[in-house]
Amino acid sequence: MRFLRIFAAAALLLASLTDLSAGITFRRAPYYSQDTVSNSKFYVVCITDPGNLATINGQQVKVYKTGAFGRQLQLQEGDNPIDVTLFKGTEVETKQFNIYYRPKTGGSVAPAPQPQLEDRLFYVTTKEYAYLQYGSGGDRLGGSKMGFLDPGIVLKVVGAIDDLYKVQLSTNRFAYIHQEDVEFSPKSSHIVNTNNIGISNLEDRDRIRLSLPEKLPYAARTSLDPTTINVEVFGAMNNSNWITQYNELGIIDYLDVQQVESDVIRLVIKLKEKYCWGFTVGYEGNNLIVEVKHTPKNLSLGSLTIGLDAGHGGEAPGAVSTTGLRESDVNLSIVREIEKILKKKGARVVLSRTDDRSMTMTERKKIFRDGEIDLMVSIHNNAGGSPLVPMGASTYYKHITNRDLAATLLKHMLELDVQNYGLTGNFNFSLNMPTEYPNALVECLFMSSLPDEELLADPANHKRIAEKVVAGLEDYLSQVSASRPTPAKSNAKKKK
Ligand SMILES: [Zn+2]
Repeated sequence: MRFLRIFAAAALLLASLTDLSAGITFRRAPYYSQDTVSNSKFYVVCITDPGNLATINGQQVKVYKTGAFGRQLQLQEGDNPIDVTLFKGTEVETKQFNIYYRPKTGGSVAPAPQPQLEDRLFYVTTKEYAYLQYGSGGDRLGGSKMGFLDPGIVLKVVGAIDDLYKVQLSTNRFAYIHQEDVEFSPKSSHIVNTNNIGISNLEDRDRIRLSLPEKLPYAARTSLDPTTINVEVFGAMNNSNWITQYNELGIIDYLDVQQVESDVIRLVIKLKEKYCWGFTVGYEGNNLIVEVKHTPKNLSLGSLTIGLDAGHGGEAPGAVSTTGLRESDVNLSIVREIEKILKKKGARVVLSRTDDRSMTMTERKKIFRDGEIDLMVSIHNNAGGSPLVPMGASTYYKHITNRDLAATLLKHMLELDVQNYGLTGNFNFSLNMPTEYPNALVECLFMSSLPDEELLADPANHKRIAEKVVAGLEDYLSQVSASRPTPAKSNAKKKK
């Protein structure tokens, strides 16, 4: 929401008054959408030519290299005359305006009516790219996602709210799914007995095959200490009396099957290594297949394929800065710098977009899937908060197994001596959802902050940011490498 508001404000800003008279000018006059406000905190933000001096209500303020300047004012109840003055040598240019501050009165505003869940009872099947949500809530990135489901899975609908169906996964477990992601099913779902399980090593991955009489919904979740993938299968009774391992496995230590509720089983897949290089869950016929990728033997950038995503593009410029810098352009410029450095190091690079075009999240994920990437970083720049202070860098992950990647990227971003806006987990960003490869989102700086914008307006800083992202990747890869069991070394120790 905040993001949309900033974007709308930025669009209006660009269309606002411009003084084109010669000499000293406001490249953009003070902007205000309303002359009566109910918040006592008021930001005055303007643009002039870099190098001019500026005062707001008599106090000199910093003019950034972009020409942007601003000040936060504390409004008094009633009229607040505001004076913005530019100085260049002996030339002076002034804009004056008035903001009326009327504090909100105590009268409470009636809350918006909450949509009510309506009872339903019928069956649907999943379409491609359908995903389950834990609840009916959401933010600008949608509701909290449980995970994607393969197409053709029958779900029992027990309610509807907004554009979601509430589905019953088992006696006690429910989830929500977008109505557009399913179609009506003549078939119903059942509680079934599971059949046998086979596990095998396919050179670059280990594969688990659970035979089922029909496709059941599932949800996967990783956990740490020890690193484990838990796949819950709903509507299943454990009758897998043979769990057969056909050869020495590459990454899976062992598999256990637990009946966690009377109609929910959990495949507990314990890994041999601390880092999970990626896994998939899906169906081949009625067999549930879980494949867990082996960590590549060589973890140098030169032998890996890195996916890079430049956020937004085309119709969606993302956040627009005070002086009109578009986030989509900044993101792409930084991604191009990262690409250059990675290629010099011999890495294969797959970009989601190489020019200014609109792309859906599904299209981006498909490019990365088809490009068989080993790891993905999405580059964005943030918006929100005060325009007058540096806001800084932040990184984001969804699955706990990607926390170290996001943390390491942030650590290196902070070497740029920018503010720390934090490490955020369980983040609902669509490109953080894939489990097939490690991934993280980097929000480099804030488009909406004048000091951050000054840094982003200089392409030399895109290169500096790119260097830090690559340093973060290399650091992460060496952590993965160092954490791997090395039988040769332990033998050598024994000999001593
Ligand atoms: Zn963005």
